[in-house]
Amino acid sequence: MPDLPSSADVVIIGGGVMGASTAYHLARRGCTNVVLLERESFFGLGATGRCAGGIRYQFATEVNIRLSLKSLPMLDDLEAETGQPALVRKYGYLFVLTREADVAVFQRNIALQHSLGVMTHWLSGDEVQRMIPLCRFPDALAGTFNPNEGLADPNSVVMGYINAARRLGVRCLTEVVVTGIEVSGGEVSGLQTNQGGIATRTIVNATGPWSATIGKMAGVDVPVVPLRRQWLTTTPLPEVPPDFPFVIDFAQSLYFHREGDGLLTGMSNNNEKIGDDQSVDPEWELVHMEAAVQRLPLLEKAGAASRWAGLYEVTPDAHPILGATPVKGFYLVTGFSGHGFMHGPICGELMSEIILDGQARTVDISMLALSRFAEGKEIREYNVI
Ligand SMILES: Cc1cc2nc3c(=O)[nH]c(=O)nc-3n(C[C@H](O)[C@H](O)[C@H](O)COP(=O)(O)OP(=O)(O)OC[C@H]3O[C@@H](n4cnc5c(N)ncnc54)[C@H](O)[C@@H]3O)c2cc1C
Repeated sequence: MPDLPSSADVVIIGGGVMGASTAYHLARRGCTNVVLLERESFFGLGATGRCAGGIRYQFATEVNIRLSLKSLPMLDDLEAETGQPALVRKYGYLFVLTREADVAVFQRNIALQHSLGVMTHWLSGDEVQRMIPLCRFPDALAGTFNPNEGLADPNSVVMGYINAARRLGVRCLTEVVVTGIEVSGGEVSGLQTNQGGIATRTIVNATGPWSATIGKMAGVDVPVVPLRRQWLTTTPLPEVPPDFPFVIDFAQSLYFHREGDGLLTGMSNNNEKIGDDQSVDPEWELVHMEAAVQRLPLLEKAGAASRWAGLYEVTPDAHPILGATPVKGFYLVTGFSGHGFMHGPICGELMSEIILDGQARTVDISMLALSRFAEGKEIREYNVI
């Protein structure tokens, strides 16, 4: 049975990348009377453990680019910070564009990226094809490539932060299911779990795809819905060169990257229904593989080594929600809409600033407040895969 304390300064619900990073960054600032509660038997089994591990700078909004500019170097430095390397591999992301409309938008995006110091390269359709001769993109109009992007290991990042937080005194507990949140006079006063209650004035909802359910417990409407996404890995494909980039056929939300001796490939189903089913959809896998083989005929030779489905935690504007809510002491770090793993390091640090200093300092994230939805101040992200 986990050793549940009767009270804590801060309780974090959720042991994925957001909860783990928040716990560590609070403790690093000296706030160590912190409890992190995860309902599963291990940390990182939610969206984080099912994610494709991609890390990139190529976004369409300033705030997402700025989050990457802070977060990706933190992944490079994770070993120095926590003792655990993030296993970063930089092969670059290659967005392949086959629609005129996307070409125009990506030209604007690349100008924004350059203005912020992110030197993404613009490629012609021929240059795209020459860069990835194994792929068939006769319809490529253009591409964008940034060699400083790539992959990191989700489990290493979660456990790096969990173990470092524990060393600083944070209690990170598994198999504790939060079942209720106590609010009195508009303020958080504690929470209930399957193992008992904890009195606290500060709760962080870091439950990703399940954050609307936890929000309801506090009487806060959190506009985040779970949406299934899936991918598979292949048996070894020695033909794939070691520097094969993270290739994205943007029009189809179809992607490939190296994984071990083979490839990982996924494709987003635009007709997927909202819901928390995490089983692999075999019909969608057929659609996905048909499209994938068209682009990368080599896949015909490969078998499936593993297949996974997980949940994106999606907001109406594909941007996360960070910060306070109308219930005093109830905070959100959620809604990353398919690209939260890479922003986990910086968002944990920002949450520690919000809780300890009253506002985020390292990055201006005022536009990511929950209140934007009621105020009609949503900001759209175009580069969602
Ligand atoms: C298929 C797929 C591919 C992706 N690819 C990428 C990618 O390439 N790059 C990228 O940056 N992002 C990617 N993402 C997105 C990324 O995985 C998420 O944005 C990120 O992991 C969210 O982290 P989190 O900590 O908020 O949520 P989670 O990792 O889901 O953690 C939430 C935790 O809360 C726990 N929990 C829920 N309810 C309770 C409760 N009542 N009591 C206690 N605990 C509870 C859950 O068990 C879970 O462990 C992908 C996601 C998916 C599904």
